[in-house]
Amino acid sequence: MSTNKSQNLANPPPTSAQGKQAALWRAARPGGTPPPRISVPEWADRYRKLAKEAGSTSGNWSTSTVEVARGPMLAPTEPGVHVITAMVSTQMLKTALLENIFGYFAHLDPCPMLLLQPKEDAAEQFSKERINPMVRVTPVLRELVGSSKTRNADETLLFKSFPGGFLALAGAGSPDNLARRPVRVILADEVDKYPVTREGDPISLAEERTASFGANWLSVRACSPTVQDESRIEKSYLSSDQRRASVCCPGCGHRQFLDFFRHVDWKKRKDDKGVVLEHFPRTARIFCEACGLGWSEGERLMTLRTVRWHQTRPFNCCGSRHVPLDMYDRAWRDAEARDPGSGGITAVDAVWDWWASERHAVYRVKCPDCGTWAVDNQHAGFQASKLYSPWSKDKPSDIATKWLAAKDDEDLKQAWWNTQMGMPYRAHSGKDLDLETLASRGELWAAQVPFGVGVLTAGLDVQPDRVECELVGWGRDEESWSIDYEVFEGDPETPELWARVDAYLLKTWYRHDGRPFNVSSACIDSGGHNTQRVYDFAKARLGRRIYAIKGESARNGQRSPVWPTKVPSRRNKATYRPTIIGVNTAKDTIRNRLNKDAPGPGFMHFPADRDLNYYAQLTSERIVVKEASGHKYRVWELPSGRANEALDCRVYAYAALCALIHFGLKLNRTVEDLAEVLHGAPPLPEGEVSVAPTPQAGAAQGGPSVRVKSAAPGRSRVSKLA
Ligand SMILES: [Zn+2]
Ligand SMILES: [Zn+2]
Repeated sequence: MSTNKSQNLANPPPTSAQGKQAALWRAARPGGTPPPRISVPEWADRYRKLAKEAGSTSGNWSTSTVEVARGPMLAPTEPGVHVITAMVSTQMLKTALLENIFGYFAHLDPCPMLLLQPKEDAAEQFSKERINPMVRVTPVLRELVGSSKTRNADETLLFKSFPGGFLALAGAGSPDNLARRPVRVILADEVDKYPVTREGDPISLAEERTASFGANWLSVRACSPTVQDESRIEKSYLSSDQRRASVCCPGCGHRQFLDFFRHVDWKKRKDDKGVVLEHFPRTARIFCEACGLGWSEGERLMTLRTVRWHQTRPFNCCGSRHVPLDMYDRAWRDAEARDPGSGGITAVDAVWDWWASERHAVYRVKCPDCGTWAVDNQHAGFQASKLYSPWSKDKPSDIATKWLAAKDDEDLKQAWWNTQMGMPYRAHSGKDLDLETLASRGELWAAQVPFGVGVLTAGLDVQPDRVECELVGWGRDEESWSIDYEVFEGDPETPELWARVDAYLLKTWYRHDGRPFNVSSACIDSGGHNTQRVYDFAKARLGRRIYAIKGESARNGQRSPVWPTKVPSRRNKATYRPTIIGVNTAKDTIRNRLNKDAPGPGFMHFPADRDLNYYAQLTSERIVVKEASGHKYRVWELPSGRANEALDCRVYAYAALCALIHFGLKLNRTVEDLAEVLHGAPPLPEGEVSVAPTPQAGAAQGGPSVRVKSAAPGRSRVSKLA
């Protein structure tokens, strides 16, 4: 990886970190000289040799063969970093990261170090199979570690001394081992397998031992994740700056964050109805989301050399919440739309600053409004799937083959997510939902509104710093299409935000033949913040059937109708009250419908550009059984740390449909009435085109010409292979 110094100088460094760092070195090593200013990857490239036991290759270590490991290896010398979390698929970079950090410190910056394994026998095994061979074949370490000069009675499998420091290896289940000596560097491996001892969490106990090293300590936590919401490495990654890796497409140069369900596709044999009869996973490859190019294995290996890491943690700045990966998605799609074929490559610089020297390299995320680096780097977290693996046994076709073998078996699926994707996973039972099945169901339709839609409704969720909105098209027997999902960032106390929401709700949406649609009804949550603002907005728009609503409380889990059957008599504006909707009933219905896997009554269609996070939110809640005065009942509950805005928006959009039906809408009749293709309007080709709605369509407010965009321009090329 090349570092770009001129660009680095142009960026505002957040602190005078380098000078401070040097001062710290001196403080930590009184009378000593600062260690040579090289990085861990440079140390490994220069000094490390590979033992035969550690793998099939032997000889010199070369970071460039596992380029994805360079980012995590640079983190120990990145100014400001104290904690490093590596949540990665198995056998990719985890062990090498720990080994190289050990070698670097033992050789160039000696200090007391502690390496934790789940149990003492695992620590002995790590010492025997990893540390010993590495020391034996690497001359600079052989000279220092356990050399005759320093050998003493302490020298065992679990204690390696070297001039200026030592490496102690211990099992995380023995708190005594954790509480003994002060240490400066902690290497915690396989952290999901650590027991919680009487004394507390082993990592916290170990990190307490770094206290005497002031600002000079380092803690590295590594593991492939396990069970979602229980995984220690997942929790650690979530509290980090959440770095993810991108690579450049060899076709167009677009930087892409590789995602199995969005970017990997393979040939399938299908019947007339589109049901897959046979998969050909050996044909699986990664497709560029910008230019549609399918990468050969040679091209994939080439792109791995362009790996760079980006902070992706969502943050609040300048009064708004920002989601870096969403910002990037919007930025590159806009750039690509302005300059087709460009891959939107300028978009990266709109979201991140490349901050690099010989000793660190990372894309720091910046606030789009004020430009400051809004996410602290004290805790650098890294997550990567096997799509970034350089090993030939981890090709996309191997991952796809494993996916097809695992997708119908919960145990195999758990292992696949953990070992192949490097992601935590919780097994579902019975008819519970598969996130990935949903996510792979995304569709393309020819225009904004597909044929079959009778009415549009909107559901809006109000958060302290934004309003989220889903626009849903409803067809025969409540088959639905998610037309659009929009996030309005801003303060819901300000009229400015509501003006944008209003303009959106007034927009006209077009079908392939030019037929216009408007939002027939909308429900806005008034149960959280900004209640009065929502009331004011809704009561001024009652005529447009825009309602302020509140979810019913979960009294005994009773199921009320989604839209109340008995609506109190007409209220005047002074006594405006929100409508109480039956959220538990709505959530039951939505969950049942998500389980449907073929178009028809109730089936939910989604556009291809929705990401996994959207589906995670949609399926975030679980039924829990509660008990009150001897009576058991079921309610929907959100596990802590999960977001559910997408589900809430769908609940409210559904409530808006129920309101229309309550007030007399005959949905199936309306769908039939609109089935006829408009005459005079030429059918639109797929993709982005201009349409002139015909006068008889009554689209006066649509103006003479509107832009109609397909749901996902990049995906259309990808799906041709399918
Ligand atoms: Zn491309
Ligand atoms: Zn800002």
